[in-house]
Amino acid sequence: MKKLGIAAALVAAMCLAGATSASAQKLYWTASGQFGPFNIQGLIPTYPDARDIKIPINMWVLDHPKGLVVYDTGNNVAISDGNCQSHWSEGLCGFLQPGQTRADVIDKQLEKLGYKTSDVKVLITSHSHLDHMGNIEMFPDAIHVVQKIELYQAWWPEKFQRGGAHVMGDYDGARDFNYLTLTGDYDLFGDGSVIILSTPGHTLGHQSVKVKLPQTGTVILTQDAIWMEENLEGYVAGLNYSVLDYTNSVQRLKMMRDIEDVPLWFGHSIAQYSKMGEKWYK
Ligand SMILES: [Zn+2]
Repeated sequence: MKKLGIAAALVAAMCLAGATSASAQKLYWTASGQFGPFNIQGLIPTYPDARDIKIPINMWVLDHPKGLVVYDTGNNVAISDGNCQSHWSEGLCGFLQPGQTRADVIDKQLEKLGYKTSDVKVLITSHSHLDHMGNIEMFPDAIHVVQKIELYQAWWPEKFQRGGAHVMGDYDGARDFNYLTLTGDYDLFGDGSVIILSTPGHTLGHQSVKVKLPQTGTVILTQDAIWMEENLEGYVAGLNYSVLDYTNSVQRLKMMRDIEDVPLWFGHSIAQYSKMGEKWYK
Protein backbone atom coordinates (compact mmCIF):
# COMPACT_ATOMS: atom_id res chain seq x y z
CA MET A 1 0.00 0.00 0.00
CA LYS A 2 2.78 2.34 1.01
CA LYS A 3 4.62 1.65 -2.27
CA LEU A 4 1.44 2.33 -4.21
CA GLY A 5 1.02 5.62 -2.34
CA ILE A 6 4.52 6.73 -3.32
CA ALA A 7 3.90 5.68 -6.92
CA ALA A 8 0.65 7.67 -6.99
CA ALA A 9 2.43 10.72 -5.56
CA LEU A 10 5.13 10.39 -8.19
CA VAL A 11 2.56 10.19 -10.96
CA ALA A 12 0.74 13.22 -9.54
CA ALA A 13 4.02 15.16 -9.36
CA MET A 14 4.83 14.26 -12.97
CA CYS A 15 1.39 15.40 -14.08
CA LEU A 16 1.83 18.68 -12.22
CA ALA A 17 5.28 19.21 -13.75
CA GLY A 18 3.74 18.53 -17.16
CA ALA A 19 1.01 21.04 -16.50
CA THR A 20 3.55 23.71 -15.50
CA SER A 21 5.75 23.23 -18.54
CA ALA A 22 2.73 23.53 -20.84
CA SER A 23 2.51 27.27 -20.28
CA ALA A 24 4.51 30.24 -21.39
CA GLN A 25 6.74 31.70 -18.67
CA LYS A 26 5.95 35.37 -18.97
CA LEU A 27 4.44 37.92 -21.31
CA TYR A 28 5.40 41.60 -21.63
CA TRP A 29 2.84 44.15 -22.85
CA THR A 30 4.40 47.10 -24.62
CA ALA A 31 3.59 49.62 -27.34
CA SER A 32 5.26 51.17 -30.36
CA GLY A 33 4.14 54.59 -29.12
CA GLN A 34 0.64 55.96 -29.59
CA PHE A 35 -1.59 57.44 -32.31
CA GLY A 36 -3.70 60.54 -31.84
CA PRO A 37 -5.39 62.49 -30.55
CA PHE A 38 -8.19 62.10 -33.10
CA ASN A 39 -11.93 61.76 -33.03
CA ILE A 40 -13.04 58.22 -32.15
CA GLN A 41 -15.57 58.53 -35.00
CA GLY A 42 -12.64 58.60 -37.42
CA LEU A 43 -12.02 54.98 -36.40
CA ILE A 44 -15.56 53.87 -35.52
CA PRO A 45 -17.90 55.93 -37.75
CA THR A 46 -21.13 54.77 -36.10
CA TYR A 47 -20.02 55.56 -32.57
CA PRO A 48 -22.50 58.18 -31.25
CA ASP A 49 -20.29 60.16 -28.86
CA ALA A 50 -17.66 62.28 -30.59
CA ARG A 51 -14.54 62.62 -28.48
CA ASP A 52 -10.79 62.73 -29.01
CA ILE A 53 -8.82 59.64 -28.12
CA LYS A 54 -5.26 58.38 -28.25
CA ILE A 55 -4.55 54.72 -28.92
CA PRO A 56 -1.53 52.55 -28.08
CA ILE A 57 0.19 50.43 -30.75
CA ASN A 58 0.36 47.14 -28.87
CA MET A 59 3.25 44.69 -29.17
CA TRP A 60 3.99 41.58 -27.11
CA VAL A 61 7.13 39.78 -25.99
CA LEU A 62 6.57 36.19 -24.85
CA ASP A 63 9.26 34.28 -23.01
CA HIS A 64 8.51 30.60 -23.56
CA PRO A 65 10.63 27.61 -22.46
CA LYS A 66 10.93 26.63 -26.13
CA GLY A 67 11.96 30.07 -27.37
CA LEU A 68 11.38 33.80 -27.43
CA VAL A 69 8.30 34.99 -29.31
CA VAL A 70 7.32 38.48 -30.48
CA TYR A 71 3.74 39.22 -31.52
CA ASP A 72 3.68 42.27 -33.82
CA THR A 73 6.44 44.79 -34.43
CA GLY A 74 4.65 48.16 -34.42
CA ASN A 75 5.36 51.14 -36.68
CA ASN A 76 8.43 51.25 -38.87
CA VAL A 77 11.51 52.64 -37.14
CA ALA A 78 11.81 55.36 -39.83
CA ILE A 79 8.78 57.26 -38.56
CA SER A 80 10.24 57.72 -35.05
CA ASP A 81 10.81 61.12 -33.46
CA GLY A 82 8.61 63.16 -35.79
CA ASN A 83 9.98 61.77 -39.07
CA CYS A 84 6.65 60.34 -40.20
CA GLN A 85 6.71 61.59 -43.77
CA SER A 86 10.02 59.89 -44.51
CA HIS A 87 8.12 56.58 -44.70
CA TRP A 88 4.34 57.20 -44.67
CA SER A 89 2.10 59.39 -46.81
CA GLU A 90 1.35 62.92 -45.65
CA GLY A 91 -2.37 62.17 -45.17
CA LEU A 92 -1.64 59.18 -42.98
CA CYS A 93 0.82 61.13 -40.85
CA GLY A 94 -1.70 63.95 -40.48
CA PHE A 95 -4.54 61.71 -39.34
CA LEU A 96 -2.68 59.17 -37.19
CA GLN A 97 -0.16 61.60 -35.63
CA PRO A 98 2.21 58.85 -34.50
CA GLY A 99 3.98 59.68 -31.27
CA GLN A 100 6.66 57.03 -31.55
CA THR A 101 10.11 57.69 -30.12
CA ARG A 102 13.15 55.65 -31.11
CA ALA A 103 13.05 54.04 -27.66
CA ASP A 104 9.53 52.71 -28.34
CA VAL A 105 10.61 50.60 -31.33
CA ILE A 106 10.65 46.81 -30.88
CA ASP A 107 14.45 46.40 -31.02
CA LYS A 108 14.89 48.91 -28.18
CA GLN A 109 12.01 47.38 -26.25
CA LEU A 110 13.68 43.96 -26.47
CA GLU A 111 17.00 45.51 -25.39
CA LYS A 112 15.26 47.08 -22.39
CA LEU A 113 14.01 43.63 -21.38
CA GLY A 114 17.46 42.04 -21.77
CA TYR A 115 17.07 40.45 -25.23
CA LYS A 116 18.40 41.03 -28.73
CA THR A 117 16.40 40.90 -31.95
CA SER A 118 18.44 37.83 -32.94
CA ASP A 119 17.16 36.01 -29.81
CA VAL A 120 13.65 35.93 -31.26
CA LYS A 121 12.80 32.43 -32.49
CA VAL A 122 9.23 33.06 -33.65
CA LEU A 123 7.69 36.28 -34.89
CA ILE A 124 3.91 36.20 -35.11
CA THR A 125 2.32 38.97 -37.18
CA SER A 126 -1.37 39.61 -36.58
CA HIS A 127 -1.86 41.29 -39.96
CA SER A 128 -0.12 43.35 -42.59
CA HIS A 129 -1.08 46.88 -41.52
CA LEU A 130 1.62 49.48 -40.97
CA ASP A 131 1.27 49.58 -37.17
CA HIS A 132 1.64 45.79 -36.77
CA MET A 133 4.07 44.61 -39.44
CA GLY A 134 6.28 47.70 -39.49
CA ASN A 135 9.58 46.16 -38.43
CA ILE A 136 9.57 42.52 -39.53
CA GLU A 137 12.76 43.24 -41.47
CA MET A 138 14.58 43.53 -38.13
CA PHE A 139 14.05 39.75 -37.72
CA PRO A 140 15.63 38.03 -40.75
CA ASP A 141 16.49 34.87 -38.81
CA ALA A 142 13.15 34.31 -37.04
CA ILE A 143 10.39 31.97 -38.18
CA HIS A 144 7.57 34.29 -39.28
CA VAL A 145 4.09 33.01 -38.52
CA VAL A 146 1.26 34.52 -40.59
CA GLN A 147 -1.92 33.37 -42.26
CA LYS A 148 -1.07 32.49 -45.84
CA ILE A 149 -3.91 34.59 -47.17
CA GLU A 150 -2.62 37.63 -45.25
CA LEU A 151 0.53 37.60 -47.36
CA TYR A 152 -1.69 37.95 -50.43
CA GLN A 153 -3.42 40.87 -48.71
CA ALA A 154 -0.05 42.47 -47.97
CA TRP A 155 1.31 42.18 -51.49
CA TRP A 156 -1.85 43.05 -53.39
CA PRO A 157 -4.50 44.67 -51.22
CA GLU A 158 -7.95 45.22 -52.68
CA LYS A 159 -8.15 48.59 -54.38
CA PHE A 160 -10.45 50.01 -51.70
CA GLN A 161 -7.83 49.18 -49.07
CA ARG A 162 -4.79 50.63 -50.83
CA GLY A 163 -3.06 53.89 -50.19
CA GLY A 164 -3.44 53.70 -46.46
CA ALA A 165 -2.69 51.02 -43.98
CA HIS A 166 -0.42 48.85 -46.16
CA VAL A 167 3.12 50.16 -46.59
CA MET A 168 5.03 47.92 -49.00
CA GLY A 169 8.33 49.35 -47.79
CA ASP A 170 7.71 47.63 -44.45
CA TYR A 171 8.05 44.16 -45.96
CA ASP A 172 9.41 44.29 -49.52
CA GLY A 173 12.81 43.21 -48.18
CA ALA A 174 11.28 40.30 -46.27
CA ARG A 175 10.02 38.28 -49.19
CA ASP A 176 12.60 35.51 -48.78
CA PHE A 177 12.31 35.15 -45.00
CA ASN A 178 11.22 31.88 -43.43
CA TYR A 179 7.43 31.83 -43.21
CA LEU A 180 5.21 29.35 -41.48
CA THR A 181 2.04 30.12 -43.40
CA LEU A 182 -1.17 29.04 -41.72
CA THR A 183 -4.69 28.40 -42.90
CA GLY A 184 -6.59 28.67 -39.62
CA ASP A 185 -5.87 28.03 -35.94
CA TYR A 186 -2.50 26.64 -34.84
CA ASP A 187 -0.99 25.29 -31.61
CA LEU A 188 2.42 26.99 -31.85
CA PHE A 189 4.48 24.82 -29.49
CA GLY A 190 2.25 21.76 -29.67
CA ASP A 191 1.43 21.96 -25.95
CA GLY A 192 -1.60 24.25 -25.83
CA SER A 193 0.35 27.16 -24.31
CA VAL A 194 0.22 29.47 -27.35
CA ILE A 195 -2.74 29.06 -29.69
CA ILE A 196 -2.99 31.17 -32.80
CA LEU A 197 -6.61 31.97 -33.59
CA SER A 198 -7.81 32.81 -37.06
CA THR A 199 -9.85 36.03 -36.71
CA PRO A 200 -10.38 37.45 -40.21
CA GLY A 201 -12.42 40.47 -41.19
CA HIS A 202 -10.30 43.47 -40.24
CA THR A 203 -8.01 42.06 -42.92
CA LEU A 204 -8.25 38.94 -45.05
CA GLY A 205 -6.07 36.84 -42.74
CA HIS A 206 -5.97 38.55 -39.35
CA GLN A 207 -4.91 36.33 -36.44
CA SER A 208 -5.17 36.69 -32.65
CA VAL A 209 -3.24 34.76 -29.98
CA LYS A 210 -4.36 32.88 -26.87
CA VAL A 211 -1.63 32.52 -24.25
CA LYS A 212 -1.62 30.33 -21.16
CA LEU A 213 0.46 31.78 -18.31
CA PRO A 214 1.35 29.97 -15.06
CA GLN A 215 0.02 32.63 -12.65
CA THR A 216 -2.11 35.02 -14.72
CA GLY A 217 -3.96 32.16 -16.40
CA THR A 218 -5.17 32.23 -19.99
CA VAL A 219 -5.58 35.52 -21.89
CA ILE A 220 -6.55 36.34 -25.47
CA LEU A 221 -4.56 39.02 -27.29
CA THR A 222 -7.10 40.15 -29.86
CA GLN A 223 -4.98 42.77 -31.69
CA ASP A 224 -7.15 44.34 -34.41
CA ALA A 225 -9.89 41.70 -34.34
CA ILE A 226 -11.21 43.99 -31.57
CA TRP A 227 -9.65 47.44 -31.30
CA MET A 228 -11.22 48.56 -28.06
CA GLU A 229 -14.15 48.26 -25.63
CA GLU A 230 -16.47 50.32 -27.86
CA ASN A 231 -16.34 47.61 -30.54
CA LEU A 232 -17.98 45.19 -28.09
CA GLU A 233 -20.98 47.47 -27.81
CA GLY A 234 -22.04 46.78 -31.39
CA TYR A 235 -20.10 49.61 -33.03
CA VAL A 236 -18.23 48.09 -35.94
CA ALA A 237 -14.69 49.22 -36.70
CA GLY A 238 -14.46 51.49 -39.72
CA LEU A 239 -11.65 49.74 -41.56
CA ASN A 240 -12.65 46.24 -42.57
CA TYR A 241 -11.89 43.92 -45.42
CA SER A 242 -15.17 42.14 -44.64
CA VAL A 243 -17.74 43.32 -42.11
CA LEU A 244 -19.32 39.86 -42.04
CA ASP A 245 -16.03 38.10 -41.22
CA TYR A 246 -15.17 40.87 -38.74
CA THR A 247 -18.48 40.43 -36.92
CA ASN A 248 -18.04 36.65 -36.82
CA SER A 249 -14.54 37.06 -35.37
CA VAL A 250 -15.76 39.49 -32.68
CA GLN A 251 -18.50 37.00 -31.81
CA ARG A 252 -16.03 34.12 -31.70
CA LEU A 253 -13.77 35.96 -29.25
CA LYS A 254 -16.69 37.08 -27.08
CA MET A 255 -17.95 33.49 -26.89
CA MET A 256 -14.47 32.22 -25.94
CA ARG A 257 -14.33 34.93 -23.28
CA ASP A 258 -17.67 33.82 -21.84
CA ILE A 259 -17.34 30.04 -22.20
CA GLU A 260 -13.69 29.72 -21.18
CA ASP A 261 -13.82 32.64 -18.75
CA VAL A 262 -10.71 34.34 -20.20
CA PRO A 263 -10.08 38.08 -20.53
CA LEU A 264 -9.78 39.82 -23.90
CA TRP A 265 -6.81 42.19 -24.16
CA PHE A 266 -7.64 44.51 -27.05
CA GLY A 267 -5.41 45.79 -29.85
CA HIS A 268 -5.73 49.53 -29.29
CA SER A 269 -7.43 50.26 -25.97
CA ILE A 270 -5.91 53.21 -24.16
CA ALA A 271 -7.99 52.34 -21.09
CA GLN A 272 -6.42 48.90 -20.85
CA TYR A 273 -2.93 50.01 -21.81
CA SER A 274 -2.70 52.80 -19.28
CA LYS A 275 -3.62 50.34 -16.53
CA MET A 276 -1.89 47.20 -17.75
CA GLY A 277 0.82 48.15 -20.27
CA GLU A 278 4.58 48.18 -19.70
CA LYS A 279 4.37 45.20 -17.36
CA TRP A 280 5.34 41.55 -17.26
CA TYR A 281 2.56 39.00 -16.80
CA LYS A 282 3.68 35.69 -15.34
ZN1 LIG B 1 -5.03 47.03 -38.52
